[in-house]
Amino acid sequence: MRLASAIASRGIARRKGRERRMASRDAAPLLGGIEAGGTKFVLAVGPSPREIVSRTVIPTTTPDRTLAEVTHWFAEHGPVVALGIASFGPVELDRASPNWGYITDTPKPGWAQTDIAGPLAKALACPVGFDTDVNGAALAEATYGAGGTSLAYITVGTGIGVGLVTGGRTVHGAGHPEMGHIFPRRDREDFDFPGHCPFHGDCMEGLASGPAILARWGAMLSDLPPGHPAHTYVAGYLAQLCHTAFATVAVETIVLGGGVMQTPGLLDAVRERTFALGAEYLPGRSRQQIVAPKLGQESGISGALQLAARAFEGAND
Ligand code: ZN
Repeated sequence: MRLASAIASRGIARRKGRERRMASRDAAPLLGGIEAGGTKFVLAVGPSPREIVSRTVIPTTTPDRTLAEVTHWFAEHGPVVALGIASFGPVELDRASPNWGYITDTPKPGWAQTDIAGPLAKALACPVGFDTDVNGAALAEATYGAGGTSLAYITVGTGIGVGLVTGGRTVHGAGHPEMGHIFPRRDREDFDFPGHCPFHGDCMEGLASGPAILARWGAMLSDLPPGHPAHTYVAGYLAQLCHTAFATVAVETIVLGGGVMQTPGLLDAVRERTFALGAEYLPGRSRQQIVAPKLGQESGISGALQLAARAFEGAND
């Protein structure tokens, strides 16, 4: 009898607990995230960075039209308690600057010196977290994907972007890291191409991005035959970039993604050459790894929602 009533009361307690959890789930405040790219904006809302309940994709047109669409969508799918924006750049990340939250000197027509965080903070009446697209992706991979408290997220595609997380925070300084524009040492056999970066010629992006490869060899890397010297050069330059991330920031993990990295065999070649370059010298060598993205295409929007969660908690970056 006592046992039966104990079981019954436990059942009631369990049911009540479940109802409470469901009620709190219904009432869970929503975070908003924007992965702002040069061709499209991905928008999402969810109670946590890994729990998206609605999402959409809109084309990047003019700032006025795009931001109006963004505001409208969040008004319909919110309200959100905080917004995170992981944006194409360059962007102003200094909270003390009057231009914080701006896309600054972008070559994208119509978008230079555009305030995107300010109008959205005002329209949605909530705190806003703002960072680069690659820093957002690095944060998401560090937290939910490849892992580690220090991580570099490198995307090799239409450009070469590098996001950095150390100590669980994204790296900012006087601006944000632009490691895609470091100068690698040229291969001994490779001196007849001036490079494709409009600012630096043969910087990393000018030698190993998709447009640089196309300008130089008239094809994408994945379409060039396996013995083509392009594979050796590109893997060698990217290995120098990875070595630089290990040697300067001492990251534990490098995530290598983007369109060019879809080339079969490239990730393995870069990994092998990076560790050959570093020799046995780097002190953290045994704890350093180079991997493919674990979150696939989700890292950008997940990172944006994480920026929203941080803004909600009152963290300033
Ligand atoms: Zn450059």
